[in-house]
Amino acid sequence: MSELQDAVSRRRTFAIIAHPDAGKTTLTEKLLLFGGAIQMAGAVKARGEQRRAKSDWMKVERERGISVTASVMTFDYEGRTFNLLDTPGHEDFSEDTYRTLTAVDSAVMVIDGAKGIEAQTLKLFEVCRLRDVPIMTFCNKMDREARDPFDLISEIESALALEVTPASWPIGMGRDFLGCYDLIRDRLILMDRSKGDEIDEGIECNGLDDPRLDELLPAHAVAKLREEVEMARGLMPAFDLEAYRAGHLTPIYFGSAINNFGVRELLSGLAENAPPPRPQPADPRTVQPDEEKVTGFVFKVQANMDPNHRDRIAFVRLCSGRYKRGAKLKHIRSGKLMAVNNAVLFLARDREVAEEAWPGDIMGIPNHGSLRIGDTLTEGEDLRFTGVPSFAPELLQRVRPDDPMRVKHLRKALEHFAEEGASQVFKPLTGADWVVGVVGQLQFEVLASRIEAEYGIAARFEGAGLDAARWVETDDKVQLEKFIELNRSALAEDHDGALVFLARNAWHLNRAQEDFPALRFLKTREQN
Ligand code: GDP
Repeated sequence: MSELQDAVSRRRTFAIIAHPDAGKTTLTEKLLLFGGAIQMAGAVKARGEQRRAKSDWMKVERERGISVTASVMTFDYEGRTFNLLDTPGHEDFSEDTYRTLTAVDSAVMVIDGAKGIEAQTLKLFEVCRLRDVPIMTFCNKMDREARDPFDLISEIESALALEVTPASWPIGMGRDFLGCYDLIRDRLILMDRSKGDEIDEGIECNGLDDPRLDELLPAHAVAKLREEVEMARGLMPAFDLEAYRAGHLTPIYFGSAINNFGVRELLSGLAENAPPPRPQPADPRTVQPDEEKVTGFVFKVQANMDPNHRDRIAFVRLCSGRYKRGAKLKHIRSGKLMAVNNAVLFLARDREVAEEAWPGDIMGIPNHGSLRIGDTLTEGEDLRFTGVPSFAPELLQRVRPDDPMRVKHLRKALEHFAEEGASQVFKPLTGADWVVGVVGQLQFEVLASRIEAEYGIAARFEGAGLDAARWVETDDKVQLEKFIELNRSALAEDHDGALVFLARNAWHLNRAQEDFPALRFLKTREQN
């Protein structure tokens, strides 16, 4: 195996998806703890706070206690290198989350044992399904009163149309939660509530009939465990690597992240079974991770992490080849070569200049706005990674500066935020006020506060009487021209210059679709 193939086979790039409050932050922290990347639980939050304290624009985030921006954490475990891409959990920031999911090879879905599948879990799962991203499920908070495991499993099966196989089986729940039986390694793992952050190795067993179980567990608990596992094995498919990797089957682990319980089993499961970097779809050909030449794409841009600089960081997912510091990469959209000297890797503790990086790794490339979401970088070949989407915003407002003299400055700020992917901007073909589109209401507040903090402009968002934005595409030039002529006042360009129809309401949109059948009114658009 070449060095490249070896590096590829050891990479695990994944994200955690969850409904807010299910325990994603806690699980992230514990994964880092087990991965040896942090000494002490609590560090993720502490680090987050330090970082936040540095930048003004995250004031909203701090006040509301939500995490607006996704970050990357790299750590090693069992000979694997994990890149964990954090996704903001708040539903208002789902677009960022969606794009982050285009950069991972697998996902961990955390559910609350008392709640099962919640709204946000479902939405995020659907995004994973679009790309057949394999999923491991972690059923958290088993130390609390939870639902019956059979009930939870059947809910996952029916709500997600996904086969489920238990990787572990819980022994009791709530106050009587004693631990789990690891069905993959035939091991009993008992929960010791007094242990704090120590890592429990588990007790080897010789199957479920091992008399050690009877020694270690109360009789009724062993009897129930044996009965339930027998039933579960009868009812549910066994673990099948291929079915999991194809996204058809999810192994479920039961645990309690806050008690470190079940986390190690999950991590071992990821190390062993989660897919290494996958071939990436691109136009005109799919790129294999073990190709010698470097390729990658930008899935996220974060501006002004340091308010004193106008720099942005483009998050690039490497898809193939071995990156070495100083590599000259071609920026396909502009056709320009760029020497990449100052890319950073995101080790869990800190950021570090990347001397080298491999497929599956995420590099941050500082730039002044040249790199945008969806951009492809290669060592020369003209290809373009596909599948990094823009979503039609669900809320549209007009924006005006308090001081009319500052219109130009405001526009500049809006364009920057659009390139960053924080919001979308639509420039009406007629009329002066630009329209801003977001996925959730909270984003308007974040934007207003960033416009003020970073650009010193007081701006007001106002209702625009608009209900939907749709990208307009067609091969029929004649009909397009007619459409533009008749609908000029409802048309705008996005920051890439693509044509967008701004509909006043559902009727307006339907009408346009009926009158111009050759046009496509799209809810998503691929970044180019
Ligand atoms: P997130 O919103 O998904 O990131 O969730 P957090 O990790 O912040 O957890 C939400 C709440 O659930 C916090 O108060 C945690 O302390 C709590 N929590 C997380 N894991 C567990 C667990 O295993 N058991 C119990 N009882 N509480 C937990």
